[in-house]
Amino acid sequence: MPEPSPFAVDAPQSRPAPDVLTALDSTEQGLTSDEAEGRLARLGPNRLPARHRRGPLRRLLAQFNNVLIFVLLGSSIITAGLGHMIDTGVILAVVVANASVGFIQEGRAEEAMTAIRKLLAPKARVLRDGRPKMIAGAAVVPGDIVLLDAGEKVPADVRLFHASGLRIDEALLTGESGPVAKNIDPVRVDSMIGDQTSMAFGGTMVTAGTGRGVVVATGPRSEIGRISGMVEEVEALTTPLLEQMDIFARWLTVLILLVAGVLLVYGYFIGQMRFADLFMTVVGLSVAAIPEGLPAVLTITLAVGVQAMARRNAIVRRMPAIETLGAISVICTDKTGTLTRNEMTVTRVATTGGEYDVTGTGYVPEGRLRSAGADIDTASDAALAGVAHASSLCNDATLQRRPSGWTVTGAPMEAALLALAAKILPGVDRPGSDWRRVAVLPFDAERRYMAVLHHAPDGGAWIYAKGAPERILAMCKAQRTAGGQDQPLDEPAWQHRTETIAARGQRVLALAVRSTESATATLDPADLEGELVLLGLVGLIDPPREEALRAIAECHGAGIRVKMVTGDHAATAAAIGRQIGLQNPDRVLTGADLQRMSDADLALAVRTTDIFARTSPEHKLRLVTALQADGLTVAMTGDGVNDAPALKRADAGIAMGGKGSEAAKEAAVLVLADDNFASIVEAVREGRTVYDNLRKVISFEIPTSAGEAVTIIIALFLGLALPVTAVQILWINLVTGITLGLALAFEPTEANTMARPPRPRSEPLLTGALVWQIVLVSVLFVAAVFGIHTYALERGHSLELAQTLAVNMLAVLEIFHLFFIRNIYGTSMTWQALHGTRVIWVCVVAVVFAQLAMTYVPPLQTILGTESVPLSDGALVVVVGVVFLAILEAEKQLRLAVAETRGR
Ligand code: ADP
Ligand code: MG
Repeated sequence: MPEPSPFAVDAPQSRPAPDVLTALDSTEQGLTSDEAEGRLARLGPNRLPARHRRGPLRRLLAQFNNVLIFVLLGSSIITAGLGHMIDTGVILAVVVANASVGFIQEGRAEEAMTAIRKLLAPKARVLRDGRPKMIAGAAVVPGDIVLLDAGEKVPADVRLFHASGLRIDEALLTGESGPVAKNIDPVRVDSMIGDQTSMAFGGTMVTAGTGRGVVVATGPRSEIGRISGMVEEVEALTTPLLEQMDIFARWLTVLILLVAGVLLVYGYFIGQMRFADLFMTVVGLSVAAIPEGLPAVLTITLAVGVQAMARRNAIVRRMPAIETLGAISVICTDKTGTLTRNEMTVTRVATTGGEYDVTGTGYVPEGRLRSAGADIDTASDAALAGVAHASSLCNDATLQRRPSGWTVTGAPMEAALLALAAKILPGVDRPGSDWRRVAVLPFDAERRYMAVLHHAPDGGAWIYAKGAPERILAMCKAQRTAGGQDQPLDEPAWQHRTETIAARGQRVLALAVRSTESATATLDPADLEGELVLLGLVGLIDPPREEALRAIAECHGAGIRVKMVTGDHAATAAAIGRQIGLQNPDRVLTGADLQRMSDADLALAVRTTDIFARTSPEHKLRLVTALQADGLTVAMTGDGVNDAPALKRADAGIAMGGKGSEAAKEAAVLVLADDNFASIVEAVREGRTVYDNLRKVISFEIPTSAGEAVTIIIALFLGLALPVTAVQILWINLVTGITLGLALAFEPTEANTMARPPRPRSEPLLTGALVWQIVLVSVLFVAAVFGIHTYALERGHSLELAQTLAVNMLAVLEIFHLFFIRNIYGTSMTWQALHGTRVIWVCVVAVVFAQLAMTYVPPLQTILGTESVPLSDGALVVVVGVVFLAILEAEKQLRLAVAETRGR
């Protein structure tokens, strides 16, 4: 139980909001930064108690809870009973090695997940020192004034004192589906949580409207904190593929143990072998054949991928996404801020009186309006003055001068409008700043405009609106002249102007106004209908991101289609699409077109269309469905609340970390820290790399194990002398298991990774090619090991020397096999391919040293039963390794060539 808070109010839901503010020692302007910091220090962060993390010891012990380890421990007891202390020692060493790999792997995985959770920590908008400020959700304290907006998560328990169309989804707390309407009136003191309409609770999601309230409880003291057992959601580091492999490995273990049992019986009763030798051999066989390291290495591979993606600004929320991302065949992306920089500047203004260029750069509010190369007098132009007022009042952003330059809070587009207002009316600090905003219709992607109702100091009441030209024009009856008269609207002329500005790739907004009765205090879409007076149009440039251009080209090379889905005007979208290198920029479908199409027509149309303009969120959902019906694996970006269904439906929903709403982030599997299209492509590349590496780990581990196991089985059944002893098999597994197998988890992206078409979603991991590989490699392993062993005996070497050569043969084969696997899609025998990564070389050097030690260091010779190998025989082993690689490589090239001829 948390300690009681010194900043607490009883039953805030039933008391008038001002009382609650007073009780918390706060005002509608919020706390000062100092005060907030003090409270945070006393009360602790606004965070739910974290999941209890297992300590290192518990984690280490957990590693011993595993079938193979039990088998090994049992075996070590038996060998100890038989008096074979050396064997016992080696078996125990294998146990320790296995446990450490598992231990390190889990540590790494937890580290990756902790880092990810930090990156995804939610933010909150509060008033500090009287100004809106974005802070970490954990830094919210009682007394803070929180600003709530559609799509945001409520950061803590809040008593509302302002609510405009506010609806909140409280399913998390109440289990009620469907949002609850909120207002500011006190409720009965004994109301249930679901009926406390004057409160917003931490962790719930705002689905519509805006609100403001004072924080009454944070962290463990909040309602959600009080529900015990509610802890942060933790995603396990696994994917469907890994789960499959886990099951596969478990059954394989069972199978191998059965085979081992049969061999034991067969060898003892039919082969008449000595039990002690036989037992060790069967243990060696089990260790060789059970892919004990496989699940661990696969998990490390995944963790490495998650971290690599995070470094590239792509934060994975759901692990299976890593696999899906590698298979993406079409990316549907937003335009504004994702393909473009979202650095807006107004460069064009059109009024009834004329069309003007706007000078100046960025958000610096300095510049002029020019016509035909000359500055114009803006002060006496009534239409321009109206544009300035609309820009300033129908606006939630602020622009402040700081020593570092002009800084923006809020949307870049609105900041650009503030700069424009200052350019039209120089010397006026934010036109209309002494007017009072009484109501607002916030912008939403469906409505595509925003409107505000203001009361002027002289008693007048004015509605200002800004938004997509066709929406605003449809609500206008008149247009304002420079002289201040209103004349009938010339709609075709304005449409033409809109098209001209949009065709340059600029975003076009229309601005309009109307006066209303001074007593009016509410705003409804119906108040605008047919009553507005058009003030003018503005055109905003938003330059494309250069890296997006490159990323789109990369996608095309990788067989991935890129489609732009935007709320912007068709002409604007087409112009940007052309600049950015989309394949088919001249064919644009609008939301209205989509609405008219049947699902079947749409599925056809999406094949050839890359730009979708004036779309609403519901169109995104239809697009995803249509593309999926065409057999494509779809990635879709989104930022708004309404995008959540499309994000959920897509194979990989991607949310914007910066401008995206919490609702979108929760629906997505991937969050982009920088909102940048290029980061999506990085994630796809990383997804392909991880999948390749998973496949490489599997293609390396399985044939190696199989090769070793088959060697032993053949020897046992044919009654041959074992080419390698059981202890030596254990040794090889010890040495290579923790080096070579692991190295593949860190493999970098292959050069041609983004030059291949996407992998089909349905492609099984164990493809025919992989199965064939396993067979081929196993056969070559057996041939080489038996070959070198027989050769040595025929040369008259001792059995020990023959076995030493054979065990070194195994090590050499594994190293060459590793180099083959590394470039499974390209050629292994290029200089660059041999170059390898540092991890690879460290591992190879380690294995070579271990093998030299086992072969030449006397104490190890005694333990492992080896003998010093003459140089010429050592060289022969390496030559056989080279031949092995050459055969594999030739076979691969042959297969590739055949595939190519067939492909033609
Ligand atoms: P995008 O897909 O490029 O993000 P949006 O959905 O943000 O497009 O915007 C679609 C259209 O809505 C814009 O072209 C613009 O006309 C209008 N619009 C966008 N933001 C606002 C706003 N804050 N206020 C009024 N209108 C807006
Ligand atoms: Mg947008």
